[in-house]
Amino acid sequence: MQLAPVADELPTPEPALLPTEQDVMWWNPTDEVAQRSRLHVADDTRPSARATRDAQSRTLGASRTMPVRTCRRGVRVSSLLIKDGIVVSGTESRRADVLIEDGRIASIASDSAAKADRILSADRCYVLPGGIDVHTHPVYRDDVGALSVTAAHGGITTVIHYAYAKPGQGLMDTLRAFRADGESSSIVDFALHGGLFDPKNQAGEIPNAVAAGVASHKVFMTYAKLGWMTDDYQLMRTLDILARCGGLGMVHAENGLATDYLEDRALEEGLDPKEAFIATRPDVLEAEATNRAIAMAQVAGCPLYIVHVTSRLGLQAIARARGAGQRVYAETCPQYLTLTNEDLLAQGALLKIGPPLRTGEDRDALWSALAAGGLDTVGSDHAPKDKARADDFFAAPFGSPQIETMLPLVYDGGVASSRLTIERMVRVTSENPAKVFGLYPRKGTIQIGSDADIVLFDPTDEYTITHETQHSNALYTAYEGRPCTGRPIVTIRRGEVLVENGQLTRPSTRARFLPTRIGATLADLR
Ligand SMILES: [Zn+2]
Repeated sequence: MQLAPVADELPTPEPALLPTEQDVMWWNPTDEVAQRSRLHVADDTRPSARATRDAQSRTLGASRTMPVRTCRRGVRVSSLLIKDGIVVSGTESRRADVLIEDGRIASIASDSAAKADRILSADRCYVLPGGIDVHTHPVYRDDVGALSVTAAHGGITTVIHYAYAKPGQGLMDTLRAFRADGESSSIVDFALHGGLFDPKNQAGEIPNAVAAGVASHKVFMTYAKLGWMTDDYQLMRTLDILARCGGLGMVHAENGLATDYLEDRALEEGLDPKEAFIATRPDVLEAEATNRAIAMAQVAGCPLYIVHVTSRLGLQAIARARGAGQRVYAETCPQYLTLTNEDLLAQGALLKIGPPLRTGEDRDALWSALAAGGLDTVGSDHAPKDKARADDFFAAPFGSPQIETMLPLVYDGGVASSRLTIERMVRVTSENPAKVFGLYPRKGTIQIGSDADIVLFDPTDEYTITHETQHSNALYTAYEGRPCTGRPIVTIRRGEVLVENGQLTRPSTRARFLPTRIGATLADLR
């Protein structure tokens, strides 16, 4: 049974968060001249004075000395020619020169003789569409501005933040605040997901949010003890509301009441906290919640996006639904592709993340699904919190810093390890994220007319990941001492070089809020 949409019941959107003319300036090759003139106005009216406000130095408390960061002031060039690189899309790679004019891709040609204000050699590099990280939390040690800086260093040019509306907060108020923060302090473009901690009182605002360009909304099926869990009544209602207004349901799928009981019992029995943590959040309870959300989304007629899939059993639940024709998108994260619960036992609270790290077999199943189309996207779940390895495990918060290492780890563990093609890497880190959230082809591709969000990626660079070389305010990296091959060496956002050889350059244009809309079918993503 599917409930029919009842669009005329929806309240009219609140104007304050409606997309501006600049926001709805979707790529349209027949209207390029008109769009370009508008683009120019939008770019030049309000240079971002605060764009990298905290990038040069931050006071982080006595526990850590930050590396000194320098930040050059950007000199805006209106044309840039990237020569001799291998330009990669989700389906092919070819040697070509890319000409950027006024922030957009103007031509892609072999041996281009075009004149440009600046020529950048991409010899022996991949020329990738900028990474799109669809899973970020800019409210912990990295705020919106700081997160965008560490993102740019990691080759990410667009982020989609979770705007978490806590109990007592309004959804639209929360979205407005995140949008304003992003427009004033981010250096990468951004969109938003709603995050509802109290759907009973917040889900009624979802139609306004969707109309205002925030199409995807997440609830937790876990974290009952923390008071964040959405029960089945409110989950069904939220998915129903989303279905009726063209939105996308997102869930953190774990059975929160079952895991809470198991945790209580394990603590009473005095089990080692790390082992208890792994044992009390088993994969089967992730798969159960995944199935439950899928069933309710089917009844509601709502597309569903499963965030941070971690396990073989979770993948099976998703594959069954997709096989039956249901629109269920699936994401995993670099930590689940790279680490296992053995790493959690060694690193303690630093690797306390939810869902927990799984087994080596689960990790291998995720890589296989990522290669074969059983997973659509990789998002970082970047959430750096204050914690140390020896902290009380159950008292420590969930989350870890991930955004800057995401593309390198997907390259290293995927492409350099022969698990993914470079084209598939582009598909899951840029093209599919853009398609799922309606940003394509403005974002997620190197095509004439698209925003010139480009990463020059050196596939031969061999180095060791250390906390000291990361740009997050996190107190650690989950990958300390890990050898890695390949990294971004230049990050360009709408034609402006943000990072070049590790050096941050302050952009002259501000970040843009990107309205999302849901449209991609599963066939569009393969
Ligand atoms: Zn998250």
